[in-house]
Amino acid sequence: MPEFDSILFDFDGVLADTEPVHFACWAEALAPLGVTLDWDYFRGHCVGIDDRAMVHLLAARSDPPRDWESLWARHPEKGDLFRSRTLAAPPLAPDLAGFLNRLRAGYKLAVVTASARAEIEPLLAAGSLDKYFDALVCGREAGLHKPAPDPYLLAASLLDAKKPLVVEDSEAGIASGRAAGFEVLAVESAAEMPDLVRRRLGWTGANPP
Ligand SMILES: [Mg+2]
Repeated sequence: MPEFDSILFDFDGVLADTEPVHFACWAEALAPLGVTLDWDYFRGHCVGIDDRAMVHLLAARSDPPRDWESLWARHPEKGDLFRSRTLAAPPLAPDLAGFLNRLRAGYKLAVVTASARAEIEPLLAAGSLDKYFDALVCGREAGLHKPAPDPYLLAASLLDAKKPLVVEDSEAGIASGRAAGFEVLAVESAAEMPDLVRRRLGWTGANPP
């Protein structure tokens, strides 16, 4: 019996190297307000949380502090920038389709992300990856966001999975998977993710995927 019956992937930073694109689009959308972003702060505090919570953080940290709603008003602009850039050049690893195709032979697969379905679905389709996933749990669809366990619990229930492996890159996401009672494989980047998953599943050189 395999150790896991399913694999639940976070999206940003796990399946796609989208965080630098999110950062660049937010920086550009907020620049007309005189709000500047720095990558170290963004990487350390803004990754893995939902956009509203992130904008609250940025507003409080601005000098002088801003009303968060003035920053939130730039959200549609940021969304437009993100969509056009990622669709023009999807930030997906070139071998991701083959990797997911091999995984799918043994595991049910889902995407569990705080990002909106309207952002995720076009990107998965652009990379021809949508057919590999049995379920997507996006944005607020589970009610509560990561680090609450709800998004991962909902995905497991949609797949009827009992032993999922969660693959995550952010503190909030790792906490969410663990709170759901699932094993979490922490990755640093989308580029290293496939190798780490292969290793965790015991796909060694003698037993290739
Ligand atoms: Mg992530």
